[in-house]
Amino acid sequence: MKKLTAVLLALVLLSGCAAVPGEVTEPLSQPSQPSLSETSAETSSETSAETSSGISAETPSVSLPEGAGLISLSSYTVRPGGYIVVTAQGAGGAFGFSDMFGVEREMTQTESGVYVCLVPVRASCEPGDYPLTIEGGGLSFYGVVTVEPRVFEQQTITFDDTVVAETINSKEANAEYYNKINALKYESVPEKLWEGGFVLPLRTKYTLSSSFGLLRTYIYTDGKKSDRHMGLDMAVTEGTPVYASNSGKVLFAGFLQLTGNTVLIEHGYGLKTWYYHMSEIYVSAGDMVEKERQIGAVGSTGFSTGPHLHFAASVNDINIDPEILLSAEPAL
Ligand SMILES: [Zn+2]
Repeated sequence: MKKLTAVLLALVLLSGCAAVPGEVTEPLSQPSQPSLSETSAETSSETSAETSSGISAETPSVSLPEGAGLISLSSYTVRPGGYIVVTAQGAGGAFGFSDMFGVEREMTQTESGVYVCLVPVRASCEPGDYPLTIEGGGLSFYGVVTVEPRVFEQQTITFDDTVVAETINSKEANAEYYNKINALKYESVPEKLWEGGFVLPLRTKYTLSSSFGLLRTYIYTDGKKSDRHMGLDMAVTEGTPVYASNSGKVLFAGFLQLTGNTVLIEHGYGLKTWYYHMSEIYVSAGDMVEKERQIGAVGSTGFSTGPHLHFAASVNDINIDPEILLSAEPAL
């Protein structure tokens, strides 16, 4: 079985999804990469692809070996930016596994004794079939997860050198973000803190000025670089109340040069929501917040050129599409 696992792992690594060294993202994903120069004036419209669910209810595409039924997946098909939930019933103890992208994951025991793990799928993940083998706690599982094709919007932005120097190339701002935020990405409360489905953090009408996964090419005088936008930019009037998308624990609340007044909430099992550029913050690190409690107000702090909320979601350090998270409560 070890040989099979090794072969599967090699296949997955060859597919190029597990590690994406070329992927440049907002600092939420890769703070070492200089990025983030958002303009709320950017106009990119919502597409139907952005709003439909990333999780389908298809049945397993393979027949499972005896005993495998005790480990199950929320879905065998997923879109880039989506996630799957792995659950194990009747396991004999804590265990981990290597996910279909070669990332080591731990199963966490819930109050009811079921083990659970959320597995995110990067926006940059190539479509295809990814084998998944899980062995542990006296259980074994083999299945294939299909990552469906997904086309993201694209945008080209031209900058003058002043803006580049002040924003996307600011090493100091990126270093501050990394130093204060990076370790928090891996904090995971081992219980479900969220209640029901996740909700939009704004109750008023807004303009989606940048979508999740948007590929941006920045042109400046001595070159260009590419960047993937890893959240929703919701342009709306300054001072508009911002509400917690769901209940959870505040891991960070404070000002950062890059992302302005920033709030990070852990909702359990590594599932997080992020709120950037606010004018005010009404919570503190360590607070337990209720779903839909006001946590701040829309602003244009940090590197931002107009009032908007950058709303993002992640499973630990991997960003997922907020619209997929909002579309259905994570299935445990
Ligand atoms: Zn943004």
